[in-house]
Amino acid sequence: RQLENMRTGRSAAVDNSKGKGKGIDYSDEWEWTPDLVARMKAVFGIQSFRLCQQGQCNANMDRRDIVCVMPTGGGKSLTYQLPALFSTGCTVVISPLIALITDQILHLREAGGTCLEAVMLTGATGKDATRNIMARMTAYDPQKSKDEKEIKLCYVTPEKIAKSKTFKAMLEKLAAKGRLARIVIDEAHCVSQLGHDFRPDYKNLSILRQLFPRVPILALSATCPPKVLNDVLKILRLQPVTDGAAANKTGTVYFSSPLYRPNLHYCVMPKPSGAAAAIQAMADYILEAHADDSGIVYCLSKKDTETVAAGLSERGIRSGVYHADIGDEEKERLHVRWRKGQVKVVCATIAFGLGIDKGDVRFVLHHTISKSLEGYYQESGRAGRDGKDADCVLFYRGQDATRLSALVANEPEGQDKVHAMLKFAQDLRGCRKLLFAEYFSAASELALSAWGASTDAGATCGHCDNCKRKGKGTVDVDRDVTLDAWKILHVLSHIEKHKGRVTISILTDLVRGAGGGGFAAGKKGKKAQDKIELDLDAVCGGKVSLSKDDTEILIIHLLTTGHLTESYSQTAYTINVYLTAGPEAYRLSRRSKADAESSGQRVLCDFQQPQKKPRKRASTSRPKAGSKRKRTGQSSGEDEDDAVDDD
Ligand code: ADP
Ligand code: MG
Ligand code: ZN
Repeated sequence: RQLENMRTGRSAAVDNSKGKGKGIDYSDEWEWTPDLVARMKAVFGIQSFRLCQQGQCNANMDRRDIVCVMPTGGGKSLTYQLPALFSTGCTVVISPLIALITDQILHLREAGGTCLEAVMLTGATGKDATRNIMARMTAYDPQKSKDEKEIKLCYVTPEKIAKSKTFKAMLEKLAAKGRLARIVIDEAHCVSQLGHDFRPDYKNLSILRQLFPRVPILALSATCPPKVLNDVLKILRLQPVTDGAAANKTGTVYFSSPLYRPNLHYCVMPKPSGAAAAIQAMADYILEAHADDSGIVYCLSKKDTETVAAGLSERGIRSGVYHADIGDEEKERLHVRWRKGQVKVVCATIAFGLGIDKGDVRFVLHHTISKSLEGYYQESGRAGRDGKDADCVLFYRGQDATRLSALVANEPEGQDKVHAMLKFAQDLRGCRKLLFAEYFSAASELALSAWGASTDAGATCGHCDNCKRKGKGTVDVDRDVTLDAWKILHVLSHIEKHKGRVTISILTDLVRGAGGGGFAAGKKGKKAQDKIELDLDAVCGGKVSLSKDDTEILIIHLLTTGHLTESYSQTAYTINVYLTAGPEAYRLSRRSKADAESSGQRVLCDFQQPQKKPRKRASTSRPKAGSKRKRTGQSSGEDEDDAVDDD
């Protein structure tokens, strides 16, 4: 059984870090990830990890010493409570206040119920109760104590360690039997006098490492500036820290929640429609900005990684492919060649974690948006780990929303996450740093300050695409597109009346009177569907006035504002995503055309001002961008290979 490895202390990330003396990436999926996620849902009712929780659970399961700095409310408790369910013996948690402990126990009883037996020992625990608990802990034997529940979590105040000899003796007994799973020190900054909250009893925690050299320690804190962190390590006798996304085999694994990394330059670039044109745009970018650098191109599907790598190679950029179906040897070979610079670009699915120990990744491009902003932050964050400048470029086109929606169709919060990603991609104004900050703060109910950011203007990064756009007049801000939005909704409701179904790209063409002007009426089954002609003048008084790209942007905007929503249709092979009227649609569509034109609530959307085409570089193999791409399966996203690795 997989979990046996873990109990015996041996482990491996799913498909990398195969003991080659390279770094270990705890932020990846590991062999126990499915079990962890299942128990997290079942016992704690939590659907997905956030911030650095996954990485931390992995390092915990791998029995490492860990320091974690995550803001209050970030979810630090889960990172020891969940692994405690899987480990042999008891996890002891030291926490400074009885009130905090009581709160934790109440929460656990509510959530964990009968699965996770938790007790507390504080100055307020009576003598008999204390004796009883300690007896239960030392006497527990998995063979003999069948009827009794094992205590998995024992919360104590620090004076138990400082002052209670019997308690320490009891822990030593546990440790000798191999049943002291881990020691957790909550609010670990309290050990340091350099911090703002020094507690004398915490100072005594330095004996823990001496008493239990083999028991892993987890130190948690919400506030721990570097100076305090170093002091904490020294006092707790922990080894120097190593980054959880590129950890060494020894040392204390360090995690902090996503923080602003000033050396990363974020940018969203429009992705031309059509596969070849998209690859050409990426190649142009790489040759222009990073001709001699190493980088990663993240792709959505395995098929994409192969086409993109082939396309880049054709254009003189040496590229390799990495995804879950690539054999171990092949992966290792790629790794070596990439490190040596023989391969410049790795085109990868999110299964790619092997490159994390390569510090000089100068660019991370996304061929398609990620499933969530967390994912995007994590993937793009593989750039610039050496601290030097690096670029993170998201190639975005609204149509890709279809593929992502299909991918997350069965995930509880999947759609919301994709919408947040789309909003980020469509944003032409907000500083990327602040957009991340707002998102992560909201996702974990944190204060914005946790991100070293506040929303006031002075806190912008100054070097993302939107910061650099400021004042250049390249964005048509808040254009009033109420009438066009009204037309789109009317066309859609007309189609729905005829039981027709449309994708983003089909609707884009329809409302512009392009692509033949008809739509398929909704007879299910294999029979050819009737094509219904659409008389735009009759339905909504004429075409929308926007370009194709801008129409797509408006449709995505309406999706993120709830005027439109996705509906799914599952076939044997794939999930198709169609557009239908959303919960907000009625506000606009019930109005008359004249009303939509002149009064009432407005729909405002930002668009890029049309720009002159950039100077073309000489290239023989270059197809004309967008010249012969019509709406075909290629752009509707319906027939693509969406077999991504994380499913
Ligand atoms: P911290 O100790 O970091 O201040 P807690 O561990 O007390 O934070 O967690 C704060 C809250 O967040 C708790 O109510 C917890 O249930 C919730 N929480 C933790 N992790 C997640 C998650 N991944 N998704 C949703 N809620 C979570
Ligand atoms: Mg806490
Ligand atoms: Zn910025």
